[in-house]
Amino acid sequence: MATAVVQPDSSVTGFVSKTGKLLINGKWVDAASGKTFATYNPATGEVLANVAAGDKEDIDRAVKAARAAFETGPWSKISPSERGRLLWKLADLLEGHTEEFAQLESLDNGKPLKVARAADVPLAVDHFRYYAGWATKIEGNTISLGLAKQGKFHAYTVREPVGVAGQIIPWNFPLLMAAWKLAPALSVGCTVILKPAEQTPLTALRLGELIMEAGFPEGVVNIVPGFGETAGAALAAHPDVDKIAFTGSTEVGKLIIHAAAGNLKKVSLELGGKSPNIILDDADIDAAIPGAASAIFFNQGQTCCAGSRLFIDKKIFDKVVDGVAQNASKIRIGQGFDPDVDMGPLVSEEQFNKVCGYLESGKQEGAKAVTGGARAGNRGYFVQPTVLINTTDTMKVVQEEIFGPVLTAIPFSDINEIAAKANNTEYGLAAGIWTRDIKKAHALASKLRAGTVWINCYNVFDASLPFGGYKQSGWGREMGHEVLKNYTEVKSVCAAL
Ligand code: NAP
Ligand code: MG
Repeated sequence: MATAVVQPDSSVTGFVSKTGKLLINGKWVDAASGKTFATYNPATGEVLANVAAGDKEDIDRAVKAARAAFETGPWSKISPSERGRLLWKLADLLEGHTEEFAQLESLDNGKPLKVARAADVPLAVDHFRYYAGWATKIEGNTISLGLAKQGKFHAYTVREPVGVAGQIIPWNFPLLMAAWKLAPALSVGCTVILKPAEQTPLTALRLGELIMEAGFPEGVVNIVPGFGETAGAALAAHPDVDKIAFTGSTEVGKLIIHAAAGNLKKVSLELGGKSPNIILDDADIDAAIPGAASAIFFNQGQTCCAGSRLFIDKKIFDKVVDGVAQNASKIRIGQGFDPDVDMGPLVSEEQFNKVCGYLESGKQEGAKAVTGGARAGNRGYFVQPTVLINTTDTMKVVQEEIFGPVLTAIPFSDINEIAAKANNTEYGLAAGIWTRDIKKAHALASKLRAGTVWINCYNVFDASLPFGGYKQSGWGREMGHEVLKNYTEVKSVCAAL
């Protein structure tokens, strides 16, 4: 029996009915230009809300506020335990509004409400808690000097916040990406200007309200929605920003590096991927088949680490492809507020056109869709989960990041060649291995040029587990203690005794 479609809570309808503003120096303000832009519900293509469109002038104002908060405001004198307490309080507030945030995220991004409830919001809450704990554990070292300096000097290092951090995030996990960026920066004592993606600004703005409610001093967190080419570019180029952290496409990542060169601000990047997922002939097929399906289809395929190239030992190729295709055809597609739905629409018309273009290109180049291969329905940005076979290494669908629910399944016959095939991409974000043989698993893991290797699992994330890319998938790591390096400088202090 079909379950009733959920209706948005009044807190959500109230929030989207107001024009969203910019958070600058603790105040909610209009863009200096007075301009606004619309954010859409991708299930219908209709306008969901209007939001102030920040640009260069607003970024200037936000940077001034963040600089003042960093240099002279209460934040500059705050104790680490107080920073931890504020982050923990923010986590509690967010947790208390789980349903509201899940609904906002589902409406703005399209993802199923049940996924936002079970993954996006709790992972964001956990992220703030994890970095609340780190605030009091930022330590340096004492250093013994060599070459006849023994006993003559006292030397030590301290880790200090890098300063004012600009943070630019994408639309695929809007709230979670905001948490990945904000939590470590605030934990170590930076101040921040966050620019959410134009497609999905709403949860970042609501989070800004909770940040102020938690008691963060004014200017510590500034949130400036707007377009990448204006607000984003101004932030990346700003001479008074010390560090820029970016998640998005490899193409824009390269623009960020150029923009950051002016004042040599520190740069960390989380970029695209074309991740290999490898099934050996001794794998537990009953686990590998649904694992391979969810590795690509989770979040409508809009995951930077999606297992988009599935390499299967040819002895089990047909069986696995058949199983993944069956899994795909059972995925229920529809609007996110329908509790029976497993897959929502793609985030935008632009993304929908891009993914449909890849389906067409695959067809033109001779790939065959075992299942899917077209849009779903005729309204909103829905695409069928698709499995392509008969591909070759040079096809665009094999080489380029599609960022949609499109899997290429590729047979292999020699385990000794599989690492080279898997590594044959400009990216290096993640990889999966499915086997019952622990020796083969670890031997193969050591050969893969990827920032994360999942063995007999996929898409397992944790605040404590570093995540990031080799090659053109990025610079630096997020999460765990690794990300703290992105937001701190090391100072060596040496005193003659
Ligand atoms: P995108 O264009 O790179 O956008 C990402 C962010 O950068 C958005 O906030 C965007 O603003 C902003 N931006 C765009 N142009 C800019 C510029 N010239 N200067 C400064 N900022 C700029 O990416 P997308 O097409 O929206 O998102 C999909 C891509 O993101 C995929 O390729 C995927 O691989 C990547 N991604 C990677 C990860 C990861 O963790 N590695 C996670 C998620 C997504 P607007 O919203 O206004 O365009
Ligand atoms: Mg974009």
